[in-house]
Amino acid sequence: MNVSGKTRVCAVIGDPVEHSLSPAIQNAAFQHLNLDYIYVAFNVRADQLKDAITGVRGLGIYGLNVTMPHKISIVKYLDELDETAERIGSVNTVLNKNGRLIGYTTDGIGALNALKYAGSDPSGKKVVVLGAGGASRSICFTLAEHARELIILNRTLEKAVSLANNIREVLGGGVNVRALRLIDGNLRRELKDADILINATSVGMKPNDAYTPVKRDFLSRNLTVFDIVYDPLETRLLREARSVGAKTVNGLSMLIHQGAVSFEIWTGVKAPIEVMREAALRKIRENEGK
Ligand code: NAP
Repeated sequence: MNVSGKTRVCAVIGDPVEHSLSPAIQNAAFQHLNLDYIYVAFNVRADQLKDAITGVRGLGIYGLNVTMPHKISIVKYLDELDETAERIGSVNTVLNKNGRLIGYTTDGIGALNALKYAGSDPSGKKVVVLGAGGASRSICFTLAEHARELIILNRTLEKAVSLANNIREVLGGGVNVRALRLIDGNLRRELKDADILINATSVGMKPNDAYTPVKRDFLSRNLTVFDIVYDPLETRLLREARSVGAKTVNGLSMLIHQGAVSFEIWTGVKAPIEVMREAALRKIRENEGK
């Protein structure tokens, strides 16, 4: 790494960011392509966000990834939003273009690309999404434009209904989206003829990795099962999906693909996906060894 006065600085801001895989993933990609960029992590508390953005402007920081708890609150400090970020009301990537801060969201496209990369393009398919939180919102807005049918199931029904209504309002009546409560009867019925199941809840995430949001009996080999939880890499849901012969896609894949789109926004260069994946896996192994 040859850092100079011309090196472009990118960073992830969030709280916590100590265990973020993004520095390892992005620096590996910059180095692989010999790009004069460097990527660091800044822990920014919710009450420090405004000052942090003033700092980004003052220091000329070139790009940001934005994670919890700032994805929505950062919007008011930016100069411009791209169309998708505007629609969803959430930002996970910022480009500093000659002093103008432009916000993007790459979570939805990251999930879409992760599915496509695994050979499970959701275009024209029936997709069942569990969860109606921040990640689900980005994923559902993106997939609603591709899927034949999108079913959102959430523990708190009102949140799923509100998300489905919002998608219809913004994308128009052409999209086929329904909301249901996340209970076994609904899951069993909807999964019978579904093509893709996405877990966008936090169920199954460490330390609660003994849990799964879906009974094994409801899974079949005709499904692609995508769990956006990436800690552990193979959740109980993915393990059981694999055991019935379903295709599986893990949350690391989404993390890499959303990071790849951010990388392309900053550099204008196609991201080296496999280099990024290897770097993430190396970092995970290193963290496990600690
Ligand atoms: P969030 O906004 O807090 O939403 C959490 C969702 O999980 C809500 O729908 C919530 O339902 C549901 N949930 C939580 N506990 C549950 C339980 N015991 N039973 C049923 N449903 C439950 O969180 P988020 O930001 O969307 O993140 C969700 C997960 O995605 C996290 O594990 C996060 O690490 C992961 N993630 C991964 C990526 C990636 O790149 N792979 C990106 C973003 C997030 P209620 O509405 O009923 O509370």
